[in-house]
Amino acid sequence: MKIICIGQNYIDHIKEMGNEIPSQPVIFLKPDSAILRKNAPFFIPDFSNEIHHELELVVKINRIGKNTLGVDFTARDIQREMRKTGMPWEIAKAFDGSAPIGDFVSTNEISDINNASFHLLKNGEMVQKGNTENLLFKIDEIISHVSKYFTLKIGDLIFTGTPSGVGKVEVGDRLQAYLEDKKIMDFKIC
Ligand code: ZN
Repeated sequence: MKIICIGQNYIDHIKEMGNEIPSQPVIFLKPDSAILRKNAPFFIPDFSNEIHHELELVVKINRIGKNTLGVDFTARDIQREMRKTGMPWEIAKAFDGSAPIGDFVSTNEISDINNASFHLLKNGEMVQKGNTENLLFKIDEIISHVSKYFTLKIGDLIFTGTPSGVGKVEVGDRLQAYLEDKKIMDFKIC
């Protein structure tokens, strides 16, 4: 399976990063070795001093709609360096454990997948809050755009992008993620 991620897909996040609004979806991939499941702790890698959380709605390619939340962990210091030199981002985005995901929820448990709210608590304090109605490229558009380049298969995951509020994680932090009022993830940073 593959993990496809969409970058710069919420205006508030594009603004906080000082980026331009893209005219088509920004796509990057993570390998399956990036996945963490079952609230396993996330270990900060020793090659970065600035790992950021990016909470995102994750869509699973399936006959019946399945969704969850995931965190697109990003080594912001490495990413900045790579962008400066025009090099690919992968080591900043696709390292081991950089894609923790929660258990899947079927689409019919969510009132409207295109108007679904989600939020992230760090040590009990709300740091990110988003709603899929604010996606620059909606889920259907993402799927049709991605399909032009990559054949989507059952089980593939799509991280749809992060709203504003991204920030650094430190050893000892606890992250809890909610999709509407349902707790989807609860894990520690080690
Ligand atoms: Zn992201």
